[in-house]
Amino acid sequence: MIDSLSRGPSPISAFDRIGEENAFAVLARAGELAAQGRDIINLGIGQPDFPTPPHIVDTAVKALKEGHHGYTPAVGIPELREAVAADLSKRYSTEVGSDTVMIVPGGKVTMFAAILMFGEPDAEILYPDPGFPIYRSMIEFTGATPVAVPIRESNNFAFSASETLALITPKTRLVIINSPANPCGGVTPKSEIDALVAGLADHPHVAIMSDEIYDHMTYDGEKHVSLLNYPEIRDRLILLNGWSKTYAMTGWRLGYSVWPPAYFEAVRKLAVNCWSCVNAPAQFAALAALTGPQDAIQTMMSAFDERRRVVVDRLNNIPGVSCVTPKGAFYAFPNIEKTGWQSKPLATALLEDAGVATIGGPDFGIHGEGYIRVSYANSLENIERALDRITSFLAK
Ligand code: PLP
Repeated sequence: MIDSLSRGPSPISAFDRIGEENAFAVLARAGELAAQGRDIINLGIGQPDFPTPPHIVDTAVKALKEGHHGYTPAVGIPELREAVAADLSKRYSTEVGSDTVMIVPGGKVTMFAAILMFGEPDAEILYPDPGFPIYRSMIEFTGATPVAVPIRESNNFAFSASETLALITPKTRLVIINSPANPCGGVTPKSEIDALVAGLADHPHVAIMSDEIYDHMTYDGEKHVSLLNYPEIRDRLILLNGWSKTYAMTGWRLGYSVWPPAYFEAVRKLAVNCWSCVNAPAQFAALAALTGPQDAIQTMMSAFDERRRVVVDRLNNIPGVSCVTPKGAFYAFPNIEKTGWQSKPLATALLEDAGVATIGGPDFGIHGEGYIRVSYANSLENIERALDRITSFLAK
């Protein structure tokens, strides 16, 4: 069987260009080591360590028992699209029509759709580096040219409007931005977003995808600034968001996007061709998440905040390591250059020898060399134990 498969026709070359998200490989390796009896502390994975709030789970079970077993409209059930529109309109004091909201199976699906929509040979797409690895992978898959916008520690890991605008050419079709950001935890200040939007007025041929999946996850009273708040770009803005992080629902595969009317029909057809619709009971759970009590978000964020302070403090006490205080999401991105290690060998050694999973910065782009990503989606006790191990490992 395997023989005949290996002799079969080759997939088209675009598939050679698909990349990876190494966090999944690290998760698998950490699982293997744990199965061998090793005590592994996972600071590699990008998902909240909290359960989905029980009222959300109960709603999904009820939906199943009540017979919601079939297809739904490809764009999502109307009551959920309306709830998303109402939630965004309220939180950002802006008008979002439910007819522009698309329910999709996970945050990734919006980036897949948006990049497919604008990516083709000879097109250029700007993306943050270090950034979520799937941006670049998908851009390359479409044959478009990925243009990295460096995300700099010296800028507190916020993106720079001037650097982004300077990279736009007549071939640029799409600019991807992400704040609060994975993997650096940076939050871009409003002044910088204002400057980006003002500059985009000179480039009407460029669409924007704003990945705001961590929009609830900011610290120190910092308020998330949504690109939805800029009416001048709404006719070319694709907003990516979802339930994975805010409601601890990564495994449910639930996301949503807001599309300009001109692109909506195209993405609806993509849904019909590819995923048909999102799992029906999960959509009812998503509705319960948006319309039910919101206190679980605050509880989770208070825990993340406490851990964030511990992680940053402990990392900054390790000789050779320095760590900017992240303003959002649940990742720290310490600079490890002065330890003498390169990022990926260090991440591997920490997992194999010290039993702590982290992700090497280059897994998020070339500008990630010199850093590792530490996710603090783990208990305070485990974080302390992991930092003890990292400290003694690097002291050797
Ligand atoms: N965007 C960013 C910046 C992320 O970090 C992630 C997940 O880690 C996603 C999108 C994808 O989210 P989902 O798991 O809902 O596909």
